[in-house]
This record gives sequence, structure tokens and C-alpha cells, in this order.
Amino acid sequence: MRTGITPAEALRIILDHAPGLGAETLAVPEALGRICAEAVVSARRLPPLDNSAMDGFALRAADCRGAAAERPVVLPVAFEVAAGDAGLRALPARSAARILTGAPLPAGADTVVRQEDALRRGDEVEIRAAPAPGDHVRRAGEDVREGDLVIRPDTQLSPAHVGMLVSLGRSFVAVRQQPRVAILSGGDELVEPDGDASGGRIVSSNSWSIAAECRALGALPVYLGIAKDRPDDLERRMRAGLHCDALVSSAGVSVGDRDFVRGVFEKLGCRLLFHGVRMKPGYPLAFGVFEGRGPLVFGLPGNPVSALVTFEQFVRPALLRMAGHTRLFRPTLEVTLGETLRKAPGRLHFVRVRLSREGGRVVAHSTGNQSSGVLRSLCDAQGLLLFAAEAEELRAGDTATVQLLDTAFLAAEAPGF
Ligand code: AMP
Ligand code: MG
Repeated sequence: MRTGITPAEALRIILDHAPGLGAETLAVPEALGRICAEAVVSARRLPPLDNSAMDGFALRAADCRGAAAERPVVLPVAFEVAAGDAGLRALPARSAARILTGAPLPAGADTVVRQEDALRRGDEVEIRAAPAPGDHVRRAGEDVREGDLVIRPDTQLSPAHVGMLVSLGRSFVAVRQQPRVAILSGGDELVEPDGDASGGRIVSSNSWSIAAECRALGALPVYLGIAKDRPDDLERRMRAGLHCDALVSSAGVSVGDRDFVRGVFEKLGCRLLFHGVRMKPGYPLAFGVFEGRGPLVFGLPGNPVSALVTFEQFVRPALLRMAGHTRLFRPTLEVTLGETLRKAPGRLHFVRVRLSREGGRVVAHSTGNQSSGVLRSLCDAQGLLLFAAEAEELRAGDTATVQLLDTAFLAAEAPGF
């Protein structure tokens, strides 16, 4: 087992062991946000027929050559056609059909004159502009032709994809499975949210913040409860999570007298690949795998910020990869520091920062006390600023890279049109 590795090495080891999960078939509306596991090829064309893009008059362009407001061409209106009409008559020579948006173009017609360029007078219409063939006509198959590859495998399904799938007559679609994540907290001091939090006990917030992280990225949390600081209780509860795709425990993974988590992982048959990552917060992270079947095993540190920062850096990308995502990381942004930051060399720091748009740039300020137990500093943060391992100072005005946890601060005050 390796120890004291860099965050980049830790991430590589983890991703090298994160398998893509299999597929499942879902009803299309349930598949929103999931990763498509098939090549969706169209068995029909869209639109199915030539149809009108406007309310107006369908006719032959040749019948209206030279038409203008002062020299209108007058045609009889032979019939009307609305969206959904079928079994249409062909358009008689030198005549027009009243047509509504989405209605099929009658045989013989090759163009549509907008209502705004025509004047209806009883059974006749005055055409006041010369149309070109094809004007305001949506051609059959101009959206999708039969045999088109419409959705590639590995596409994350958006509302537009849902619309496309049902347009193609699909009620079901194959998508990648969601990883199931067993979540275990350990510590004699921990209670559930409705437990007795007196006498030095604290609520096990990690259980719920980690479950929330899972939900936010589309993984399914499976809650294993709170284990006492005893190997037998840890083992019993962890066994209940071995059917999952990942097992994420928090706390008890450091070098304290009651830090039994790593030993129990190994007792269960897990091979630990590393323990200790040169980062802050989050140094005590442990990671292991089972030979053959078994979950990826993450022993996250117990401090609430350490647990979440290590989840963000390592568990989240692994779960996204398992779920079939190809983009695994938060967006990053170059920001300007609003204040000077200092640290000792040796570890990569993830500084919780508040971000604001100031003119064309984004300015970052520390959210305050960066202790790994101060969850408030993460609540107030929109990003994690990367303060390189060997660097000791970042000055106000310097630029730095921030991982964006929350893009809401980028929201515009106006729509931009
Ligand atoms: P440990 O790694 O067990 O030494 O825990 C480090 C710190 O994290 C201690 O102050 C614990 O009380 C705290 N802690 C451990 N587990 C949790 C949890 N599930 N929720 C909130 N705090 C925790
Ligand atoms: Mg503990």
C-alpha cells in the first residue's frame, strides 16, 4: 500500500479501478439526466411530410411571378388545410389553399406565402409578394431522416433528447445504471439527527452530506447507519454494503487508537491501494478494491469538510465514471485573488472561497476559518481554490484556479437579449 501520495496520483489510481456499470432500460421520462447506453437510430423521418412553417397560402410559385403589393396576383382559394389533416386533395392549377402552421403541403403546391403578404377577399386571395419555391416549407426529413444516428451512446439525456426520443416513437431507452453507494459513519460520539446530542455527542452530518452529494450527481445512497468505534460493529455494518458499487465510510481512518476502519476493510478482503494524500483538508483518505466482485472502498476522513472535499475530489469523479459520464470534473475558472493567502509548503490546499463577478473578472475571497471541522466555511463557498503544494503565498491580485462547486454566482442579472 502506498502512502503520502499526491492528489493527482490518488485520482489516477482510483479512476484506473472505477468500472463502467452495465445498462438498464427505462421509460423515456425517467431517463432525463442519465447517460444513454445505446445508439439511437431513427426508424422514421421528421417531419414525416412536407408541411407549412407559417399560417398563409400554399400555391405554386410559378403562378405568382412578379406579384407585388401594387400588382397583386389573385388566385381562387380551393380549400383549407390545417395541422393534422390527412387525405388531402391535390391543389388545382392556378389556385391557392389556405394553410395553417404544421399542416401538410397539398400535392402540387411548392411554396407558402405568409398571411402577412396576402389579402383574403372571400373565395379569393390577393398575393402581394412573389414567393420562391420552398419558401416557408418544412421539408419531410429536414429534422431527422430514416437511419440517422440521432443520439450517440454516452450522451447525457437532456429535455431535448427526451422530446426527440418520443418523437421517434420510443417509450423506452437503454441508459447506464446509477451507482449504488453504501454510506457508513463511525464514531462513539455520533448520533442520528433526532438523537440525544448532549454530553459531547454530535449529529453525524457526514452521513447526510455524503448522501446529498450522491443524489446531486445521480448516484443512489444506501445508508448503513452509525457504527460504534469497535471492529465488530464496523464489520457487521460494512458487510451490509458489500453488494453496492462503492462503500464510503467516514472517520476512524487516521492513526488514532480507535481508528479501526482500515483494519476492518482489510479483514473484509479489501486490498488497500493507498492511505494518506498530500492535501489539506483530507490527508487521511484511504482507498481500496476487492479482487473480483466488490465495491470500491473509500475511507474518508471524519471532519465534515475533509469528508466533503475528498468526496468531491475522488469519490465524485469515480461515481460519474461508473455511471458512464465522460466529463468527470467540476468546471474550473481562473480568478483574481481578493486577498493574500499563506500556507506552509508540502500539501495542495483546497481553499474554500466566496466568488463574485466584478466587471469582467471573478474575484475570490476566503470564506474564513479554514479548519477542516468548520462546515460553515463550505456552506459559504462557491468554489475550492487550488493553492499548489509547494507554494507558500498567493498575493492579492494574483490569478489562481478555482473548481466551481456552485455556478449560481455566474447567473446574469439580465437575459442578454
Ligand atoms: P475521526 O476521523 O474519527 O478522528 O473524526 C475526526 C473528526 O470528525 C472528529 O471530530 C469527529 O467527531 C468528526 N466526525 C466523525 N464522523 C463524523 C460524522 N459522521 N459527522 C460529523 N462529524 C464527524
Ligand atoms: Mg472517530
